[in-house]
Amino acid sequence: MTNREQLPTCSFCLKAYPDVGTLVAGPGVYICDECVALCSELIASKPKPNRREPVRRIAPWDAEAGVDAVLASLPRVAHAGEQAEYVLAQYVRKARQLGATWAVIGQALGMARQSAWERFSGEE
Ligand SMILES: [Zn+2]
Repeated sequence: MTNREQLPTCSFCLKAYPDVGTLVAGPGVYICDECVALCSELIASKPKPNRREPVRRIAPWDAEAGVDAVLASLPRVAHAGEQAEYVLAQYVRKARQLGATWAVIGQALGMARQSAWERFSGEE
């Protein structure tokens, strides 16, 4: 990983921190000022949803033009996943510092104590 790849990245547009004005951190995700502005525009311009109609979900990859565009997005999407995994590991480390057992952490994550330990302890 290069230094640039380790920089926090917007979880929506996948731009790295120096390329955006402000990057707001959430639990395992980030959002940049441009994406907040876009979301605000969408929310303000969209009529209230009809609760009786099913929500139509559009996957981000459906907006890509072709295989080259999808392939070009793969490294950035993989980085976003690595970033979320890194932040999750930081949360687990903090839970351990606060006295949580591996059993309690595993329960919170819906996995066995052993699985949580293997994934996050850093021990073999
Ligand atoms: Zn963004």
